[in-house]
Amino acid sequence: MTGLLGGKTALVMGVANRWSIAWAIAQAFSREGARLVFTFQGERQEEDVRELAGTLAGSSVLPCDVSRDADLARLAESIQAEGLGLDALVHSIAFANREDLGGAYVDTARAGFALALEVSAFSLVAATRHLLPVLRPGAAVVTLTYVGSSRVMPNYNVMGVAKAALESSVRYLASDLGPRGIRINAISAGPIKTASARAIQGFSRILDVMKERSPLRRNTDPAEVADAAVFLCSPLARGITGEVLFVDNGFHIMGI
Ligand code: NAD
Repeated sequence: MTGLLGGKTALVMGVANRWSIAWAIAQAFSREGARLVFTFQGERQEEDVRELAGTLAGSSVLPCDVSRDADLARLAESIQAEGLGLDALVHSIAFANREDLGGAYVDTARAGFALALEVSAFSLVAATRHLLPVLRPGAAVVTLTYVGSSRVMPNYNVMGVAKAALESSVRYLASDLGPRGIRINAISAGPIKTASARAIQGFSRILDVMKERSPLRRNTDPAEVADAAVFLCSPLARGITGEVLFVDNGFHIMGI
């Protein structure tokens, strides 16, 4: 039972491959003594997620597409059936159509807007609601956001709006869950080259600007985000809820 998360069980949603931020978080949680439960989105991901999970002793893997309530209900049932209570829930999920991550925001289509908001923001609400019965008192929820929620970033468009809804949801959920002793926070990560990030046009330029202008003059390492997630899910953060914690080498504080 050593480590900041010794004896705890964490559900990690959003590992697609070894570049996923969720995978960096899972590795850090495992290092700190947590037992991991992973979800995968669909059959195409199952093998990769099982292979990665297999490298962390004692982990299990379950299916879940967050846009389906039936999947979320089954996930909660499976966790209950395995006799697992959750001490941490990591929500590291977002999606928008590629055509909505470029051009002018004013051209966002109705269906694309609804899809991005559903998968990237409402899924946090839905997952939390379905998993409430298995979240132990003292549990912590963490989600991933980006500074594009409050500042206009090139080609981030509808995803920025979804992140604004996500961050606001964190505050409302914190108010709902607080009386149960459950905390919820977001980490606003600097840009990191992952499969999702590749969908954003001009992403390499964003990485360059970050390195040039952030106070620490470097790009964000997924391991830095993961360590912040460990902190937020550990007893060290027991007085913190409804917060957005920036892990971006200070980029968000800069003007021009
Ligand atoms: P990623 O592509 O590795 O992870 C995104 C995950 O979302 C994938 O595992 C995918 O399967 C999952 N997902 C999408 N739709 C889903 C659905 N319907 N059901 C279940 N899962 C679904 O990319 P990432 O960069 O690790 O993204 C993780 C989170 O971090 C996202 O919320 C993203 O917006 C956020 N984030 C990323 C960056 C960055 O620069 N990479 C910066 C800040 C925040």
